[in-house]
Amino acid sequence: MARIVMKFGGTSMAGIERIRSVAARIKREWEAGNEVAVVVSAMAGETDRLVNFCREASSLYDPREYDVVVSSGEQVTSGLLAIALQAIGVPARSWLGWQLPIRTSDGHGSARIGEIDTTALSASMADRTVAVIPGFQGLAPGERVTTLGRGGSDTSAVAMAAAMKADRCDIYTDVDGVYTTDPRIVPRARKLKRVTYEEMLELASVGAKVLQTRSVGLAMKENVRVQVLSSFVDEDGNSEPGTLIVGEEEIGDMERQLITGIAHDKNEAKITLTNVPDKPGAVASIFSPLADAGINVDMIVQNVAHATGTAPKSTDVTFTVPTADLARSLDVLEKSREAIGFDAALHDPRVAKISVVGVGMRSHAGVASKMFTTLGERGINVQAITTSEIKVSVLIHEDETELAVRVLHTAYGLDAEEPATA
Ligand code: ADP
Ligand code: ASP
Ligand code: MG
Repeated sequence: MARIVMKFGGTSMAGIERIRSVAARIKREWEAGNEVAVVVSAMAGETDRLVNFCREASSLYDPREYDVVVSSGEQVTSGLLAIALQAIGVPARSWLGWQLPIRTSDGHGSARIGEIDTTALSASMADRTVAVIPGFQGLAPGERVTTLGRGGSDTSAVAMAAAMKADRCDIYTDVDGVYTTDPRIVPRARKLKRVTYEEMLELASVGAKVLQTRSVGLAMKENVRVQVLSSFVDEDGNSEPGTLIVGEEEIGDMERQLITGIAHDKNEAKITLTNVPDKPGAVASIFSPLADAGINVDMIVQNVAHATGTAPKSTDVTFTVPTADLARSLDVLEKSREAIGFDAALHDPRVAKISVVGVGMRSHAGVASKMFTTLGERGINVQAITTSEIKVSVLIHEDETELAVRVLHTAYGLDAEEPATA
């Protein structure tokens, strides 16, 4: 007997037929004598629809009310799944975030999970009743409903598994594991049997949305055994094993790869400030007001300073911000124009960040140069670069995303012999 948290994503919950097949899968685990708690997402597309309602109602919506609206998609699916389970003879009930409760920070729209009261869940398990918990939602101090940021149901599931000391956290989604890159872009992407927490964290943070970044960080910290699996398999539950996220010590030498995967992210926008004076404190005058406004700056490039005529030396500074924060960033910069002393704020939302990730980079040179050469041969221009110990990222034109991911996947020898069937 094992204690399992099962999480089902939006595609798996999209419609009653699919909810029925999710219920059947849960029943198999339950009948095998396992203790089961389930975390669900809203139906695919529902959260986008709810977000758009808020934007339509007012561009300056109250984030506390936004959370009330967008958390509702999960309320619907948790109730529906409990009904579907009961209909096939599995005792079940839904537990909304505020009913348990799942305590979070008050960072509305991207709250962090604090503590989960497991009293009700433990009682439910002891009683052989399946608890169905809506992902993505929680309760802030002051008893206001919160949400955990897009894709946050993964984090709900991992937090639940940690709180319940579950043996496993199984994340069921619409692909059958973590691949070397998004299999929807590169059909020859290869499924990874195992990936380390660290690599998965880096892949997720640079755009591999198969798991929310925070969920991986939490799994790593709490040592939760996470497995990514497909919920679309035959009735008997025969599926190819998915991907296990493990500690580095569990990866055998044979399995170790120089490059683990490639990810892309189209949700960043580029800003270039021209003719910023080249003097101490100039960079701080740009990034401090952005930080104060809660805007996350990602890539930064500062060009070599040059003097024009008798004017003091100046330089262009290029950086990226989330596309959703572009308008706000330009507003913040405009308000600080005098303090910064720039000429123009040029901006371009049509960029994409492409990242190559792998722990093997620590001990091998040449990963970055291969990336630049491969892109250069295809005429793809690199607009900015950042690196970490196990990652190299470049910024390119958005229209070249798919091409860049495909040629890099081939260049690093990641292509599978057969196209994926996921
Ligand atoms: P869910 O609704 O189940 O949470 P998501 O849409 O959030 O599903 O995440 C699954 C999607 O992640 C897949 O459909 C796939 O297109 C995308 N994806 C991006 N990168 C990868 C990767 N490296 N491996 C697997 N899937 C990936
Ligand atoms: N429904 C939420 C979203 O679409 C949370 C999730 O699916 O993980 O972002
Ligand atoms: Mg998701």
